[in-house]
Amino acid sequence: MGGIGSGRYLFNNSNDTTFDYRSIDVRRWKKDELLRPNQDFNWNWSRDGKSVASIQVHTQVNAVILTYRHRSSGGSWKNESYPVTLDWTDCNFGGQRPWFLCPAKGCRRRVAILYGGGIFACRHCHRLAYPSQREPDYERSGRRADKIRERLDWEPGFLNGEGLRPKGMQKRTFERLRAEHNEHVTKSLAGVKSRLGILEF
Ligand SMILES: [Zn+2]
Repeated sequence: MGGIGSGRYLFNNSNDTTFDYRSIDVRRWKKDELLRPNQDFNWNWSRDGKSVASIQVHTQVNAVILTYRHRSSGGSWKNESYPVTLDWTDCNFGGQRPWFLCPAKGCRRRVAILYGGGIFACRHCHRLAYPSQREPDYERSGRRADKIRERLDWEPGFLNGEGLRPKGMQKRTFERLRAEHNEHVTKSLAGVKSRLGILEF
């Protein structure tokens, strides 16, 4: 079982977002009745109707074995095969619902979804951040300022200063957008400055 949780794998990916990952959802497998023991199935991901990746799954009584090949960007292909333990909890209205126990070393969090990188692991282990959380505030502010500029038909790039009120736009609307724009610009500049400040050290 070498490889699993040999940390580097997991943490190299910390700049990625959930969007970059292929995920497996144990609830979906339950719904599709794929979790009955001693079955084999392929799980595919497709884009534009074409299969772009797949893993083989073998089910046991309380585990699924995931088998696949993967390659990190530019690296060589690597074969993986390891079990992910299943856990079951009672539902309020009868029946049971399944969970994956995250297979990363020392984790074993009970989760519904595992994300693939080198290995499938929970969001916490991949240190995944959703795009809006990952984006620094000041970048978001810069983007918002640009959006407003677009709406005002101002020259792109907030360092270009303010433009005129577009024909047909109410003065009140214009003033509101202008104030919003300037607020975002101030925030964005402050963010950039403090980042540059850090970089100077
Ligand atoms: Zn985990």
